[in-house]
Amino acid sequence: MARRRKIYEGKAKILYEGPEPGTLVQYFKDDATAFNNKKKGTIIGKGVLNNRISEYLMTRLAEIGVPTHFVRRLNMREQVVKEVEILPVEVVVRNIAAGSLSTRLGIAEGTVLPRSIVEYYYKSDELNDPMVSEEHITAFGWAMPHDIDDMLALALRTNDFLSGLFLGVGMKLVDFKVEFGRLYNENGEVRIVLADEISPDSCRLWDTVTDEKMDKDRFRRDLGRVEEAYQEVARRLGILPEGGVADLEGPTAVQ
Ligand code: C5P
Repeated sequence: MARRRKIYEGKAKILYEGPEPGTLVQYFKDDATAFNNKKKGTIIGKGVLNNRISEYLMTRLAEIGVPTHFVRRLNMREQVVKEVEILPVEVVVRNIAAGSLSTRLGIAEGTVLPRSIVEYYYKSDELNDPMVSEEHITAFGWAMPHDIDDMLALALRTNDFLSGLFLGVGMKLVDFKVEFGRLYNENGEVRIVLADEISPDSCRLWDTVTDEKMDKDRFRRDLGRVEEAYQEVARRLGILPEGGVADLEGPTAVQ
């Protein structure tokens, strides 16, 4: 098989040309970065697990009517997604204070928020992904007001659904980040869909009983047992075979 054309390489994923027009292949790496690339490392098996976890969560979300870019999983580390125009805005939804919210506003980590809080960040490595308001987003043309309405509604539905899904398997969805893309159909119509990935790289997940962290904070804060945490999330979601990641890995993909 001919090697696929690489379209883009990010910190945790690579995008290749897809098998059908209007599609891309999203390849999940084991590379982990934090604090805008200042901390780098490898989480063995992360790519395999995040490919599975994101497939599972995006499929469940599509079933309740949240449009996503996900098409199908190809193999252990790759999935086919629809080619979309990524909006340069990261949407964060928070249910419990943690991370930058705690640092910025001095609210103790673990404080249950009075209601879910949505924040927007401008996607820019050079600027360290600064937090922005709707005013900045529309004034600088990063998204239209109706795009923001769609992103907000979809982010909140995603939060409601995933909070319940994770609670059902013993985890609290503390916060998460999602990205959205513009998807054009053959009639030139456009709609906003969930893109990128949803995984322990982009969510904070705490055990409901012990509050133990089961996400990328274990890597960011050197808490140890990072691989085990990602595996445990997959196991609780019912998508990790008995043999663990070794069983998931399978034969190496041809690119
Ligand atoms: O760091 P902060 O507290 O703002 O992160 C909020 C949520 O967004 C966390 O779940 C984190 O994993 C996620 N996030 C992300 N990518 C970023 C920034 C934050 O996935 N660039």
